[in-house]
Amino acid sequence: MKIFKATLAGVKHLLFPPYCLCCDAHIPFENAMICMDCELDLSCSMTDSDRELKVIFYDMPQVKGLYIAFQFFDNSRVQKLIHYLKYKHYPEVGELLGRKLGRIIKRQQQPFDFIIPVPIHPKKRKIRGYNQAEHIAKGVMEETGIPLAFGLLKKQRHSFSQTKLNKEERIRNVERSFGLRKKLNFKGKRVLLVDDVLTTGATLRALVQVLIEAKADHIEIGVLGKAEA
Ligand SMILES: [Zn+2]
Repeated sequence: MKIFKATLAGVKHLLFPPYCLCCDAHIPFENAMICMDCELDLSCSMTDSDRELKVIFYDMPQVKGLYIAFQFFDNSRVQKLIHYLKYKHYPEVGELLGRKLGRIIKRQQQPFDFIIPVPIHPKKRKIRGYNQAEHIAKGVMEETGIPLAFGLLKKQRHSFSQTKLNKEERIRNVERSFGLRKKLNFKGKRVLLVDDVLTTGATLRALVQVLIEAKADHIEIGVLGKAEA
């Protein structure tokens, strides 16, 4: 498997010579995805997340913290990179950006018991080939040393159509779209949920609800950016 992966990386390198994914500048190092200028620019764009925390999770006091790594501007470097991560089969970009997010989380000096990446539906995973949140979470783990917990949560298929549901029932239906793979008790555990982009927060709220039902009392969330809904 390792040999296959190495070969694949070699092929990718031949097909895509080392040019910066953000600005197309030539990179002298084979393993870098972005150039030094873009790397420095990325490091400087953290954003304040207190407002989002209070607005989105106003009724969920178990959510104690929200980390948003980057400020989003149109055609910004980070948006380009997220596009590569989600749509152009560059899972390793997730680790690169995850390490930046990890640096912010590390600064808070909060001890977490584990990181949970937000799951995606199996069908989506099959199409994309991977779950981008897992790669971001891996980057956070590399930077912070917080252990990564895979497969605790699952995104389950809707068992019925949404068309005949009213607004309230639809919200409830989304809320029930996540579940635990097995019976777990999160009491006393400090959990860090990791996802790519925060929009309305509906997905994260649904996940938080599942964790709260499993007795979680300290949840924090780390995302790469906040997009307008
Ligand atoms: Zn560049």
